[in-house]
This record gives sequence, C-alpha cells and structure tokens, in this order.
Amino acid sequence: MRALLVAIATLAVAPAPAPAAAPIPADALRVAAKISSWGPRPAASEREARAHRLMRRVFRRAELRVGVQEFAVPGRGRSRNVIGVLDTPRTCLRIVMAHTDSAAGAPGANDNASGLGVVAALAGRLRRIHPGCDVWLVATGAEERVYTGSPDHLGALALARRARAHGGRRRLQWALSLDEVGRDYPFWLRSPAGSPRPSVEGALLAAGRRVGTAVSWVRDESTGNSDHREFELLGLPGAKLGVGAGGEPCRHTPCDRPSRLDPTSLVLARKLAAEALRAR
Ligand SMILES: [Zn+2]
Repeated sequence: MRALLVAIATLAVAPAPAPAAAPIPADALRVAAKISSWGPRPAASEREARAHRLMRRVFRRAELRVGVQEFAVPGRGRSRNVIGVLDTPRTCLRIVMAHTDSAAGAPGANDNASGLGVVAALAGRLRRIHPGCDVWLVATGAEERVYTGSPDHLGALALARRARAHGGRRRLQWALSLDEVGRDYPFWLRSPAGSPRPSVEGALLAAGRRVGTAVSWVRDESTGNSDHREFELLGLPGAKLGVGAGGEPCRHTPCDRPSRLDPTSLVLARKLAAEALRAR
C-alpha cells in the first residue's frame, strides 16, 4: 500500500510531457507559388489532383476533419472538392472556398492558386481564430467553365448541394469564394444581390474594415462568375472576394505566373477572411 502511495505521489509530481511544437501555418505565397509553378491544372487533370492532394495534406496537418467529395466532369473525367471541417459548439456555418483548377494553358497563379494559398494559410490558424460558427474550408474542383464547357461551376454545384443537405438553409451565414486575391488590391466583393445584405456582404465588409483590408461591394453582372454563383442559385448566401477595378489582364493566359503574386494582397485577403470567421 505504502509503495503504491509513493508511486502515486511520484506520478503526481512527474513533469508534464513537453507539448508538441505547434505546427507552423502554411504561408499563402509559398503555397500559391508552388501550385502554380507546376503549370496549367485544368479540371479533372493530374495536376488538379496533385494540387488537391497538397490541400488535403494542409488540412490534415491543421487537424481539420477532411472529406473528399468526388464528381464527374462530363467529357473530361472526375474531379473533387477537398473539404476541411472545424466543428464548434455553434450550429451556424461559414464556408471559405477557392477553386483549384486553372484554364487550359494558364498556370493560374492569381486565378486561382492565390485563393488556395489563402485557404491553406487560414487552415493552420483556424483553431487560434476561435471561429464563431462551424467552418468548412474547401478547395473546389472544376470551376473554369471555359474549359469544362458546363454552364455551372461544377465543384461549387456539388458543394452547395452538400451544404443544403447539411441544413444550409438554416445554418449557412455565407459561402465566400476567394478568387484572384493575389494582386490588384484593393479588392472587390461581388454577389448577385440587389444591395448588400447585412448578414452577408455587410458582415464581410465590416470584417475588412476592422482589419484594414480595403474592399468595396460591386454587384455581379448576371449570376456571377465564381463558385459563389451556385450557392446563390440554390438560395444560399454567397459572395466572391477578388480582383478589384484593375481586372486581371492575365486571366486564363500563360502570363498568369507565380512571379506576379503580391504577398501583401494575400495577407490582406487572409486577414479579412479570418476576421469574418472569428465574428460572433
Ligand atoms: Zn477563377
């Protein structure tokens, strides 16, 4: 008995094992430059899959719950959405997504390895952010309609259906597409809404103001040209953060190269998204 008590006492004062070093969050510029250095990654290609594998590793390292949602790209093969989930005690949901594919022939540094870089940088910071709602970070597939020939952004369509099946109408506050956030700051926030909705565009613009990320809302022409479109078409709130008034002259062309990425632009996009995820 005495020996047992001594053993317990010894245990009680034994030093706690040193905590494992916190993993260093992925750097947006490094991830964006790496992915776009591989060359064009059209929907359903091996390079798109390679970029998705990289994002899956980033999500796993960040200890998110990772899911892969596969879907067909008619005439091209198969693509997927890679989803990293952080559950919180809250039931509300926020989605930050970026498309992984590029147009054929385009290395897609700004369009849209930039968005992937920011999503990767968010993943490693997510627990420290203490999000005010559940979060899905998503590397979508098959966005580029110029390549797929589909009327819809196919990954976003599958993702919006999944969100709807998971109580999206009740839970989803907004789905934000990061698309061309790697240069030409200040940004535009775009959506097909008639005017900014307080809980969608209003919340995102306010987050930008709080962290000093300059952004103005500009209504989409028609239904929109990024992954937020499919959410809106299903009656779920969506918006896109992306290139501002200067546009993207290298969109869908071989000149959209990693050397054009501006680290400041990437950091400002990440800060806005992080602040919007943190909000209560
Ligand atoms: Zn794009």
